[in-house]
Amino acid sequence: MKEKTILTGIRPTGNIHLGHYFGAVQTWKKLQENGLPFYLEIADVQALTDNFNQPEKVNKNVRELAIDALSCGIDPEKTTIFIQSMVPEIAELTVFYSNLVTISRLYRNPTVKAEMKQKRELFGENGESITYGFLGYPVSQAADITAFRGSLIPVGEDQLPLLEQCREIVRKFNHIYGEVLVEPEAMLSDTPRIKGLDGNEKMGKSLGNAIFLSDSEELIAKKIMGALTDTKKIKKDDQANPDVCMVFYYHKLVNLNHLETVCSECKNGLRGCVACKKELIEQMNTFLKPIREKRNYYLEHPEAIDQVLQEGTKKARAVAISVAQEIKEHMKIRYFE
Ligand code: SF4
Repeated sequence: MKEKTILTGIRPTGNIHLGHYFGAVQTWKKLQENGLPFYLEIADVQALTDNFNQPEKVNKNVRELAIDALSCGIDPEKTTIFIQSMVPEIAELTVFYSNLVTISRLYRNPTVKAEMKQKRELFGENGESITYGFLGYPVSQAADITAFRGSLIPVGEDQLPLLEQCREIVRKFNHIYGEVLVEPEAMLSDTPRIKGLDGNEKMGKSLGNAIFLSDSEELIAKKIMGALTDTKKIKKDDQANPDVCMVFYYHKLVNLNHLETVCSECKNGLRGCVACKKELIEQMNTFLKPIREKRNYYLEHPEAIDQVLQEGTKKARAVAISVAQEIKEHMKIRYFE
């Protein structure tokens, strides 16, 4: 059996928050320990599909994201961290694959459909916000994966249609040009999406309900003091339901050793919400302390980040060059020796 290659990506649209950490980064940390080649792509070209008019923001976020990933324990000795735009073969493959997908198929992709709906709600019905680049991002994702012979792709349930689109492109390519590309499989994450401090199903910067790894102790305290609790609990000794409280929800992430006490004291009216929030603030800061320390180190040593990104990108590019070469040979794109 051929060795599997794991590939995942993250868009540099902002710092890593707890939703990313518990939903993805924890899984990456486990995956990098299993000895298989593991690529982590910082997808700056994809970030530009939504931020094409804010190039400085995307540029800054690439470094911020690398700092966050390394501070969380992503080890560049085990994980190849690279910048998408610095591997131009991905863009080249995107162009080749764009002939293998119809516009109507892209419109039918459930993930694309859901994101288009969101855009229309934000920017109006006239479709002005839907660019060619946005519609085609499943194609560029197929290029991301196949450029490194990615065969195992960690995804959430909502990302499955994108991977299916990639598999279709691979099958079509292999049917026309010969068996060159590897058909990737999904590695479904069993981690549920982490909710925001306000109880929203999604955590996000624009929603104002996220805790970022880069947040200061003071900011975390402020955010947690404003988190949604059981609204029926008015007085300290009122009995409450921790299952409808976001403070308890976050205790479940960072205060595992004390969880039963928090739960029973809440149910029996033996703890007040302010004290409960203060305990969570302390536990959250304890959890984030080692990450914060590493972040501070990397912020003071930007040359270390540059080195990781340059070496990772160089290593990734060498693979992509060889794969693109093989692809072009099969497509008869070779005119001179
Ligand atoms: Fe939530 Fe704690 Fe208040 Fe219970 S006591 S409602 S768990 S904040």
